[in-house]
Amino acid sequence: MSKRDYYEVLGVTRDADEEEIKKAYRKLAVKFHPDKNPGDKHAEEKFKELGEAYEALSDPQKRAAYDQYGHAAFDPRQRARAPGGGFHDPFDIFREVFGAGGGSIFESFFGGGGGSSSGPQRGDDLRYDLEITLEEAALGCEKEISVNKLDRCDSCGGSGAEKNSGIKTCATCGGRGQVLMSRGIFSIAQTCPQCRGAGRILEKPCKVCQGEGRRQRSSKINLKIPPGVDSGTRLRSAANGEAGFRGGIAGDLYVVLHVKPHEIFQREGDDLLCEVPVSFVQAALGSEVEVPTLEDKATVKIPPGTQPGAVFRVKGRGVRNLQGHGHGDLHVRVQVEVPTRLNHEQKAKLQEFAALCDGQQTPLAQGFFEKARKFFR
Ligand SMILES: [Zn+2]
Ligand SMILES: [Zn+2]
Repeated sequence: MSKRDYYEVLGVTRDADEEEIKKAYRKLAVKFHPDKNPGDKHAEEKFKELGEAYEALSDPQKRAAYDQYGHAAFDPRQRARAPGGGFHDPFDIFREVFGAGGGSIFESFFGGGGGSSSGPQRGDDLRYDLEITLEEAALGCEKEISVNKLDRCDSCGGSGAEKNSGIKTCATCGGRGQVLMSRGIFSIAQTCPQCRGAGRILEKPCKVCQGEGRRQRSSKINLKIPPGVDSGTRLRSAANGEAGFRGGIAGDLYVVLHVKPHEIFQREGDDLLCEVPVSFVQAALGSEVEVPTLEDKATVKIPPGTQPGAVFRVKGRGVRNLQGHGHGDLHVRVQVEVPTRLNHEQKAKLQEFAALCDGQQTPLAQGFFEKARKFFR
């Protein structure tokens, strides 16, 4: 999508001075502010565009860059030209232009009463740390967890008001949820102490929750864990966070997963690694060994002359990819085990074997002794 010219966005000429730019921004930003146009996507886009245009043109350095290069001046792909950073949150720009204590100016523009602290409030998001096994992480599972949290009060249905009792506007703040306090020459807006910002007072607060609309208790939550998750994966359980204040919407529950170490497998991304001991005879003569996989087992062919530490890949027997890109592999690392207790007969046979090997060198030994020869001199 092509971007509109910043001067055009603000409706000013290219030689407009700082004051004109600010005036144009103030007028348009108030008109298109999302709080004044709830749910209007077009207004939201406009508001964003205005913030960007104002930010670019109100800063002499950025404006000079824009005049010279156009939108490319702020393109992060052309960093050499960009006069530093991307754009700020359009709401921050708005607050900056209208002053930090913008709340009261804002309310006088929009008729007041619409402060975010009045009425029901959204509940907090919560975090829950959950430990699962590698099998559960790889194959997916369902879990029931108990979370002790603020939950909707059943007695009042979350409203905070006793049944058949009303809610009246707070007389102290007139329903605004805020009162103005004098501090010398300044007036500072503060949360109303009477209604604690709600703007409304319950005639008879619910006895169970004392008017909060929610209360602390342990609730059971079912989680569906998809296959392929790993330590650090964060699952969002919508609306299972804290209940909202007085019927406000609930926050979300974020479950952070921790995968326990496994006895046999080590995990690297979607791949699994396991170490399998084989006898030195198996390594020398070659063999087939059975190895465990997460779901059942697989057979790995060990060729004759396999060295310790050799790794064999069993394709597709790792962990299923979380984004659906197939499966990882299972890597089997061979540990060659030297016998620790030999009986007389075994010893004799090995000595016989050693005699047969006299003078016959294996590649590794040959290479080593060739290099080491100079140290022996
Ligand atoms: Zn209640
Ligand atoms: Zn009040």
